[in-house]
Amino acid sequence: MIKSLQDTFTLHNGVKMPGFGLGVYKAADGEEVINAIKYAVNAGYRAVDTAALYFNEDGVGEAIKQCGLPREELFITTKVWNSDQGYESTLEAFEKSRRKLDVDYIDLYLIHWPVKEKYKETWRAMEELYRAGKVRAIGVSNFHQHHIEDLMTTAEIKPMVNQIELHPLLSQVELRDYCRSQDIVVTAWSPLGRAHLFEEPVLVKIAEKHNKSVAQVILRWHIQNEVMVIPKSAHEHRIIENGDIFDFELNRSDMEAINTLNKNSRFGQNPDNFHFDF
Ligand code: NAD
Repeated sequence: MIKSLQDTFTLHNGVKMPGFGLGVYKAADGEEVINAIKYAVNAGYRAVDTAALYFNEDGVGEAIKQCGLPREELFITTKVWNSDQGYESTLEAFEKSRRKLDVDYIDLYLIHWPVKEKYKETWRAMEELYRAGKVRAIGVSNFHQHHIEDLMTTAEIKPMVNQIELHPLLSQVELRDYCRSQDIVVTAWSPLGRAHLFEEPVLVKIAEKHNKSVAQVILRWHIQNEVMVIPKSAHEHRIIENGDIFDFELNRSDMEAINTLNKNSRFGQNPDNFHFDF
């Protein structure tokens, strides 16, 4: 389990990835995303999760320059969007993202969603980018076990990460176990359940017992489950609060009580049946 914001998971290729990062979905490009990343870096975060879809890679790039840390101390993830999937178009999309971020390399590049008939060709491009040293690690997002198994029928390199929707209402036990058995690190997106869980009585009770917020309890549950988290906020006090989870521990009965909240329910779309009209 990570013991600080800077502590890392070792991916199966040896690259170290911080186990805690800032998500920037819906952080506006420009000042909002730049400030959010600066607050996060000051609070001790070392990883940022963006995507071509978030339309804020320019701002993330600016923040990388302004935050005062050497590039190699930051871990930057971005993702290829669905309409760019395919071999050539992924190579082009990567180059666009890299230029917007204004970096020589990206730490982790992910396939955003498993677009049928395309993700194997997309993966071939990801492997090429990896072999060329343009990305330090490659992975997938929103892949069920069957998507990973299907990908592996043609892949030469196994994904290093699977970033999936994961929170107390969708605890993803089987997929987590499968990924662990394959040495694939799981990252939780919407780790806070998009702020819908803060009134949940079981969580409120555990939070009161530890004198912590519900957000902190949920994030602590994730890290005790060996999951990477990327909570999103643009507010300094929340960014600091979310990272302040290393001075308490959930005991076995706290963990079990949170586990019972699972309803296999999603705030996002199901990777077996997703529709995006853009
Ligand atoms: P989240 O679970 O991180 O919740 C974010 C919401 O919680 C925001 O409204 C924020 O203002 C609020 N919040 C954060 N900290 C709080 C606190 N301490 N107290 C009160 N409110 C708080 O949801 P998310 O943004 O959907 O997910 C996090 C990140 O995951 C995204 O920013 C993005 O980087 C990534 N993501 C990836 C995918 C994917 O398909 N791979 C999909 C969605 C999100």
